[in-house]
Amino acid sequence: MIDKTPQAAAVGFPTLRSVYAAQKAIRGLMVRTPLVPSPAFSRIGLDVRFKLEIIQPMGAFKIRGAANAIAKLTAEEARRGVVCASTGNHGRAVSLAASAAGVAATVCMSHLVPANKVSAIRDLGATVVISGMSQDDAQREADRLTDEGELVQIPPFDHPEVIAGQGTIALEILEDFPEVDTILVPLSGGGLISGIALAAKSADPSIRIIGIGTEKCPAMRASIAAGLPIKIAEDESLADSLGGGIGLDNRFTFELTRRFVDETISVSELQIAHAMRALFAREGWVCEGAGAVGVIPLMEPGLATMGSRIAVVLTGRNIDMDTFMRICA
Ligand SMILES: *Cc1c(COP(=O)(O)O)cnc(C)c1O
Repeated sequence: MIDKTPQAAAVGFPTLRSVYAAQKAIRGLMVRTPLVPSPAFSRIGLDVRFKLEIIQPMGAFKIRGAANAIAKLTAEEARRGVVCASTGNHGRAVSLAASAAGVAATVCMSHLVPANKVSAIRDLGATVVISGMSQDDAQREADRLTDEGELVQIPPFDHPEVIAGQGTIALEILEDFPEVDTILVPLSGGGLISGIALAAKSADPSIRIIGIGTEKCPAMRASIAAGLPIKIAEDESLADSLGGGIGLDNRFTFELTRRFVDETISVSELQIAHAMRALFAREGWVCEGAGAVGVIPLMEPGLATMGSRIAVVLTGRNIDMDTFMRICA
């Protein structure tokens, strides 16, 4: 049997202690978000509450991990500046957190990235480097700037301080809802769920942690099934923030997810659309696809094994209005 105690993690891995340190480090850079009851998704005997990461600056929880990784730079690293290759929520979070800390940020992207995304990152004060025709090309450029330009790379999920930053969500959930028995967490590269599972299981190993990913790119689920990080074919999804692999050289999130996460499921495009529509229609929350998937197990009985005191992390709200209105129509 796999040892499920958090202490089983190896040296270099984030710990509960690093999650508490992150909580201190990022105060003032992020919002301590409310955990609001959801009357529409609750009933007698089922207490459902939403962790509103949709109200974070830049509209997603990623500010927590980015701010913590930047706060933990040495003075010398901070002088060199940081780099990442994300045009999405991670890129925005790194740009904002770096500018707040007075650290130079470079964000690499390909020529295919639309102009509005490029200017959104520039407006946050980051330097944009455009290179190649794919996300892989942009990542290679970020790696080159790390090796040759001596910038410090802030990866989107597979980094101990990023994981510890995301784990602060669990500390807040436990503070606000000590009776919680299940946490529903959107899952892609696994930085979010690793941090949450690490912190929640340290408090009480019986709290169930369930990861919800997209069928279009179930990289973590497939890797766990295979017993090692694998690359899988990837398709576009309404939950664009859940795209991308976990990295064949994954160091932290594969191991942490495998150890501490009780169950992972993959959901369809139709289920994602229904979840977004239900969150808006029933309670007025605007979530991007990735932000909404946590409620799917509540809408589809039997999809996952859950308790009755449930926290759902609504992770992000960054979706263009045309797409959102089309889904809600
Ligand atoms: C990044 C992201 C996720 C997934 O987080 P991982 O740490 O990659 O598993 C989920 N939702 C939103 C909105 C995100 O930006």
